[in-house]
Amino acid sequence: MDYQDTEGKPKEACGVFGLYSRELAGELAQRTYFGLYALQHRGQESAGIAISDGERTTAMRDMGLVSQVFDGPRLAALEAGHLALGHVRYSTTGSASWENAQPEFGGRGDVNVAVAHNGNLVNAGTLRDSLAEDGFRFYSTSDTTYIAAAAVRELERGLSVGEAVRGAMRRFEGAYSVAMIFRDKLVAFRDPHGFRPLSIGEVDGGYAVSSETCGLDIIGARFLRDVEPGEVVVIDDEGLMSYRAETPRRALCVFEYVYFARPDSRFDGREVADSRHRMGELLAEEAPAEADVIIPVPDSGMMAAIGYSKRSGIPYAEGLIKNRYVGRTFIQPTDGMRQLGIRLKLNPLPSVIEGNRVVVVDDSIVRGNTSRKLVELLFEAGAAEVHFRVSSPPIKGPCYYGIDMDSPDQLVGANMSVEEIRVQIGATTLAYLSTDAMVAATQQRKDRLCRACFDGDYPITGTTSKFALENKTHYVATRGG
Ligand code: SF4
Repeated sequence: MDYQDTEGKPKEACGVFGLYSRELAGELAQRTYFGLYALQHRGQESAGIAISDGERTTAMRDMGLVSQVFDGPRLAALEAGHLALGHVRYSTTGSASWENAQPEFGGRGDVNVAVAHNGNLVNAGTLRDSLAEDGFRFYSTSDTTYIAAAAVRELERGLSVGEAVRGAMRRFEGAYSVAMIFRDKLVAFRDPHGFRPLSIGEVDGGYAVSSETCGLDIIGARFLRDVEPGEVVVIDDEGLMSYRAETPRRALCVFEYVYFARPDSRFDGREVADSRHRMGELLAEEAPAEADVIIPVPDSGMMAAIGYSKRSGIPYAEGLIKNRYVGRTFIQPTDGMRQLGIRLKLNPLPSVIEGNRVVVVDDSIVRGNTSRKLVELLFEAGAAEVHFRVSSPPIKGPCYYGIDMDSPDQLVGANMSVEEIRVQIGATTLAYLSTDAMVAATQQRKDRLCRACFDGDYPITGTTSKFALENKTHYVATRGG
């Protein structure tokens, strides 16, 4: 973990948002802006909005946070329409470029689509080659381009939109939750495993789709249901049409529960916050500690720390104060000022820490660097003991499904025992939540979740080194979102 950007956590790749409403035609850009605001945690590098009246589409996208990319005049410059797409993006280092900001556009002749994507295609290289054989030329390096091109290829055959998208989906392997505009239709679809979330709501005579339900709440939309794994939803003046497909194995990313999703979002009708509380409670049962106070690593460990406190009976307190205004781009301290780096973000409260046996709760440990600095900070502030508790299991492998998780050699959990990690971070004791308890806290069946980075059970056969190789060599595209 490294405080040089965000909290050194794995990065969620993207958030998507879509809106269809004739009643709201004059304010679609603003509603989409609000939707993206709620999804900002899913991607902080670029933001974009496209508005269409079914014939003309205007779009604006740029690097930066939603509030940096858009202001009143810019939103007003987007023409009125009854279809909207929005996107926030995080990309892997080196691929953060304007060209890869979304929504992306694809087209040939009079068949044009705008696409916003969250996920990662594991077969992007072979898909690109086969689309090139179909005559497509690519200038963007995002796999979203290939999704757009494959949809265009099928639409050219004259199929209905639903059938065309289903046809395109047969060519995709990996994680994709997508919102797309084609002419006067808003289309939303999700890969057959359902790795990334996507929900539908009803709003002012129309519909909204959002990566998370918090994007629906903010615009006053009423949650209807999730887009099902493998489902294509087509929204137009006729209403909502659904095309469903067989799902080989559901695999919603368990990390959405642990860290990525906003706590006020809901999956299958249950609040993410509730799952995080339960993770903390189960952690207290599995890994109790003799201590005087429970503190969270803000904000990621907060819910689990409250749960740990509730179950253990040990008081909860905020012992680390976070500076909420340190963004990704703040000037880094030099190596000689190493410890300053973490102090810019977090400052301990001696009145809570001094002389106390402290349990500090975080949601995950990726590389271990930040955890070590945190423990140092707590001892410097006078902690008598520091018991580190993690509300998920050790991360043992990379993610191929849309999360920017490091290669195995950078994951401390893949290379060290728990005791070796404890020594490395300097904690008095260290314990993680078990995989079974993490799954139990979600109240989902184990076989309906992806847990691959924790237990190596990759839902798509073959997504191990073969695809890592494709990602590093043949496939140079960046993750779509
Ligand atoms: S490998 Fe891990 S981060 Fe990736 S989808 Fe599966 S559970 Fe989520």
